[in-house]
Amino acid sequence: MDALVKREAGPGLSLEAVPEPVVGINDVLIRVKRTAICGTDMHIYNWDAWAQKTIPVPMTVGHEFVGEIVEVGSNVIDFRPGQLVSGEGHVVCGRCRNCMAGRRHLCAHTSGIGVNRPGAFAEYVALPMSNVWEHKADIDLDVAALFDPLGNAVHTALQYDLLGEDVLITGAGPIGAMAAAVCRHAGARHVVITDMIDERLALAARLGATRTVNVNRETLADVQAELGMQEGFDVGLEMSGNGAALNDLIASMCHGGKVAMLGIPDENTALDWHTVIFNMLTLKGIYGREMYETWYKMSVMVESGLDIAPVITHRMDYRDYEAGFAAMNEGKASKVILTWDR
Ligand code: NAD
Ligand code: ZN
Repeated sequence: MDALVKREAGPGLSLEAVPEPVVGINDVLIRVKRTAICGTDMHIYNWDAWAQKTIPVPMTVGHEFVGEIVEVGSNVIDFRPGQLVSGEGHVVCGRCRNCMAGRRHLCAHTSGIGVNRPGAFAEYVALPMSNVWEHKADIDLDVAALFDPLGNAVHTALQYDLLGEDVLITGAGPIGAMAAAVCRHAGARHVVITDMIDERLALAARLGATRTVNVNRETLADVQAELGMQEGFDVGLEMSGNGAALNDLIASMCHGGKVAMLGIPDENTALDWHTVIFNMLTLKGIYGREMYETWYKMSVMVESGLDIAPVITHRMDYRDYEAGFAAMNEGKASKVILTWDR
């Protein structure tokens, strides 16, 4: 089968013929229809310091996908060929305290599809049945391919009550933009989003942000005054991974404000701790998606009108993957879909 493979320790990926995955007794085999390129794939493609210490080579990459089940292992009774599914990209151990308590998103022994084990940028991918999420047959395939990053947005956004609240999102990358859509869907009042790339802010506005802020030209304090906000934002979602954005966010929260942090800042990022303490802010780190409450909420929100399709800026055949990775590296693309079904 065709697959996008990191063959050697160095930049780039190659399109290669590799053996089809082996299907274990607890696995399902999925014929991949659509995939999407994630920031993680860009780290691997560009072979940055994180990728160098994380990715064993050779490795088939990719973890955002939708496909159709074509075969199931002998232990699998809940799935059958023909079902349309995506996969949770974190494979957990199933045996640690958190896993046994049903808190699988807190497993300390997670391995990643397309990171530590063969991924989905391939004609076929095999997954444990416990990582499979079934879609309604009529879901838009491109949207279904985005459930992994949409799950990051949903997991983060739904940490706190949003109905009638004012939300600040720092970073209008694909995940921040989708989070804006989720916050509006969930009944927030103001959904203000920051970035320094106008194209990305415009996209976030299409998805549901009520006010966009280019931090190179405007301050959040001015925007709060313009919106007539008394104190500050009730809920903050950090989705840039940038330390300055994180501090902007902390400075813009109301007393008692609640912050969920998905973006991954530099390890030694300094924080204005006095504001955190005297204003009694709550800060919570977010990783991955809840298995499977986040997935349930995603399916239900998409069914009830949440539209994230505008986040897709490029669609192309997987054989044109170099153009897709180039568009991502340029910084203006949001989600790039690679099509595997012909
Ligand atoms: P992205 O890099 O595409 O988007 C980040 C955006 O933040 C960019 O558009 C950038 O211009 C903007 N930005 C940079 N500095 C800023 C500043 N000072 N103020 C405002 N905006 C600023 O990333 P993404 O794919 O949308 O993911 C968002 C973040 O979440 C990334 O940091 C990513 O690594 C992280 N992430 C974490 C998890 C997790 O499980 N914790 C999962 C996926 C992604
Ligand atoms: Zn575990």
